[in-house]
Amino acid sequence: MILVTGGAGYIGSHAVKALKAAGFAPVIFDNLSTGHRSFVRDTPMVEGDIRNSTDIQRAFSEYSIDGVLHFAGKALVPEAHANPAVYYDVNVIGGLRLLDVMRDRGVKHFIFSSTCSTYGIPENAPIAEECPQLPINPYGETKLAFERALRWYHESYGIQYLSLRYFNAAGADPDGEFGEDHDPETHLIPLVLDAAAGRRPVVQVFGTDYPTPDGTCLRDYIHVTDLASAHVLGLQALMEKKVSSQAINLGTGTGYSVREVIGTVRKVTGREIPVRETDRRPGDPPILVAAVEKARTILGWTATHSDLGEIVATAWKWHQDR
Ligand code: UDP
Repeated sequence: MILVTGGAGYIGSHAVKALKAAGFAPVIFDNLSTGHRSFVRDTPMVEGDIRNSTDIQRAFSEYSIDGVLHFAGKALVPEAHANPAVYYDVNVIGGLRLLDVMRDRGVKHFIFSSTCSTYGIPENAPIAEECPQLPINPYGETKLAFERALRWYHESYGIQYLSLRYFNAAGADPDGEFGEDHDPETHLIPLVLDAAAGRRPVVQVFGTDYPTPDGTCLRDYIHVTDLASAHVLGLQALMEKKVSSQAINLGTGTGYSVREVIGTVRKVTGREIPVRETDRRPGDPPILVAAVEKARTILGWTATHSDLGEIVATAWKWHQDR
């Protein structure tokens, strides 16, 4: 069976569904702090905290685990600045506890949910995996610390891993089963959809003087269903010994500006979206776009659901149904 930490969360829930579709048997490990019980459905779950070795041991004792997809973690930049200790505790120490249990039980296959935030403000676009990793916030810093630890756990204990560095995860399950539901919400697409639905009065555009074609930041939005399929391909490749342990970007290779996202939401929803232009948000790199060749060559993976219109349409369906 495959342990999916954070399997009740936004990306983890999509990965659980993709694992089942590929014939794997997933087990969720989640403390439901940000995950949703309603996302668990009929998947077996161990309720526990990633920082608690006893909880992790319980999952490995109750189920015969062959591999781990590790999504459990903290992922909000403003929260990370306010309380970096929690980010180190969960993202680094919690992750290491999990690896220690894997090592002790001889479980070798591990996929890590990493992020383009480990690159900081890149000098080039698109960003290749070899670019310097110089994070500019404690969130990216803790994800990088864990990526580095993984390398040594590989070398010394034989853990076989992939660190998948996501760009901007977005969209929702096309069947409407899961979607993005954070509290507080800080991400652009759900905030714009909230404004379209009349749940928020206005969308703020953080900065219009960036060195980009329309002055707003460019991001590489990748559909959560595409992210999920990359995890399954990565796990299969590791288990079949077809890939070596390494980091791989997951993105589309195309950047969209904040204004383009708002324009797409207007088109898809047919609603008015009031906008207020404000100052830059601290810590936002102007352009984050993935180099995607490695994912294609190593995993045979490309994004197939990440057209911006499709991302917004699936997210809008989820937003309205929930
Ligand atoms: N953004 C914005 N208004 C918002 C939220 C986000 O203009 O209310 C911008 C943000 O500055 C960034 C882009 O939208 O350039 C994507 O931000 P998000 O928080 O969704 O993801 P991030 O790139 O920070 O991971």
